[in-house]
Amino acid sequence: MARIVMKFGGTSVANLDRIRAAAAFVRREADAGHSVAVVVSAMAGETNRLVGLCAEAGEPAPALDARDVEYDAVVASGEQVTSGLLALVMQNLGYRARSWQGWQIPLKTDLAHGKARIAEIEGEALGEAIDSGEIAICAGFQGIAPDGRIATLGRGGSDTSAVALAAAVGAERCDIYTDVDGVYTTDPRLTKQARRINKISFEEMLEMASVGAKVLQTRSVELAMRYKVPVRVLSSFDPPDAPGPGTLICDEDDIVEENVVTTVTPDFNEASVTILAVPDEPGRAAGIFDALAAANINIDMIVQSASR
Ligand code: ADP
Ligand code: ASP
Ligand code: MG
Repeated sequence: MARIVMKFGGTSVANLDRIRAAAAFVRREADAGHSVAVVVSAMAGETNRLVGLCAEAGEPAPALDARDVEYDAVVASGEQVTSGLLALVMQNLGYRARSWQGWQIPLKTDLAHGKARIAEIEGEALGEAIDSGEIAICAGFQGIAPDGRIATLGRGGSDTSAVALAAAVGAERCDIYTDVDGVYTTDPRLTKQARRINKISFEEMLEMASVGAKVLQTRSVELAMRYKVPVRVLSSFDPPDAPGPGTLICDEDDIVEENVVTTVTPDFNEASVTILAVPDEPGRAAGIFDALAAANINIDMIVQSASR
């Protein structure tokens, strides 16, 4: 039977009822005979709470590096709690299950505390454990840095943990359970007309994520594309015995119907500035952009128009 990785985000493990609902999905895959590794986020709101506590405790701020290392020690704890709770719930249902922290796997990162990148995962022990029938409940978002300290992968990083673990154990697929039933043409919480997409290419999903569609962390899509891990986005709010089809994120070649435009992703962190009556003379535009560059202001898009 196949190895599969399932990931549950914050709203999907927001309280014990939601954790029990997640367990029903895990149970379904285990009963089908699969070797199952699960990646969990912290309970909804918990990481924000921990980040807030760090900010309060850090006044006046100590040296930046030290602050980042202890920030990681604090914020990684949210995932430690949910991994243990889901393991307990699975055990109570009669399954063999245990929690795995990032350092226990080990999921090794670089030294960039607070926004670390994954350097290497030793997936053998985890693979053997799940093949023996034990369900592995892994704390997402965290790993161990070369300084021997806990590191976190940046906000939304549990998606990246899940895809990286799927690649490391050679999983057949990585199922991301969240609070929407797939990837939509635009954020379904903002626009009622948004439609669910059945299949989307890694490239398109990467573009969406990189401009801010937070349904998947950008780095997770990069890894899925590099290691060719098929990723499905599904809702943990569907009935576990009749889940919806979700969205498959896969190779472009596997998509028959191609659209010119697949999705629209809004960005609320942009300002639009119009400069009127710029004389059409050499050096004028350069003068404007030099001044902006000197002030470290990034420009995403330039629209030049002759009309007033
Ligand atoms: P999780 O806690 O499960 O990781 P997130 O809140 O990080 O979930 O991501 C899911 C959210 O992504 C949805 O609730 C939705 O508002 C948002 N989102 C943004 N763009 C899209 C999109 N195109 N399709 C689906 N969801 C989107
Ligand atoms: N708990 C972390 C966050 O809120 C990681 C994640 O949920 O993916 O950013
Ligand atoms: Mg997320």
